[in-house]
Amino acid sequence: MRAVGAVWACLLASAVAALPAAAQADEACDPSKGIGVARTADVDTRGGPWFGEPFGDPDFLAPGEVVLTFDDGPLPGSTSVILATLAAECTKATFFVVGQMAAAHPDLVKAIADQGHTVGGHTWSHPNLRRLAPAIARAQIEIGFAEAEKAAGQPIAPFFRYPYLSSTPATVAYLRGRDIAQFAVDIDSSDWLIRSAQRMIQRVMTKLEARGRGIILLHDIHPSTALAIRGLLARLKEKGYRIVHLRPAAPVQTLVVSELRVRAVARLTRFSERPRHVHAKVEETDWTRNWPF
Ligand SMILES: [Zn+2]
Repeated sequence: MRAVGAVWACLLASAVAALPAAAQADEACDPSKGIGVARTADVDTRGGPWFGEPFGDPDFLAPGEVVLTFDDGPLPGSTSVILATLAAECTKATFFVVGQMAAAHPDLVKAIADQGHTVGGHTWSHPNLRRLAPAIARAQIEIGFAEAEKAAGQPIAPFFRYPYLSSTPATVAYLRGRDIAQFAVDIDSSDWLIRSAQRMIQRVMTKLEARGRGIILLHDIHPSTALAIRGLLARLKEKGYRIVHLRPAAPVQTLVVSELRVRAVARLTRFSERPRHVHAKVEETDWTRNWPF
């Protein structure tokens, strides 16, 4: 979530400029030139089902089918390049946005949604929910969805991915009760670690060869990922993989969140995430137990 450096910003600006104007405007898309979308799946999220390993239905995707997912954004520069590339390739993805990032860059969330991609939640400030009192974890989830929906200016999907893929029995039960689908990962690109486009693409392709299908995890906050997407899509197409676009059968029902509560959750999250030797244990107080989330 840091600012893009000047060199990267320059590279990204060149990458956008290199794309056809029609692609940037997401119009006059020619599916024969890109990987396209092979199938659109309308996902019924009632009961908060899992997607991806280890709890998801392994046959949700057919052999050769892949789903593109981008976490942690949006971020100016890299997210814009990814959107332009997806438009040029006539394909669609799911973006699990962070609430704080959505609030900071609402125009980008709106662009993601306007261009037909799916917007899901990834908490408000990206904490490890295992370290939080259950009520604060629930508030993180809800504020994340509320901020993302506000930024999108339209309903978003009841799709959620845990920061660090870190769930608890309480959060799983909560999302099941909220009819919010829980997304894991089949193919981890490790793009946050591997900043080389070629090595990242190779890693994804090797894992796909072994597994044959899957939900691919990428992060739209990394310039190296933005610059790798065109090459990754080319390799996927070359190898015969097909993109599945996931859409919700019904939108998420967001809760109204006041600014005061956002500030309170920010404070409590910071307190809870301190190393455990600083304070023995984060207890649920009467106040947090009564939190409406
Ligand atoms: Zn994340």
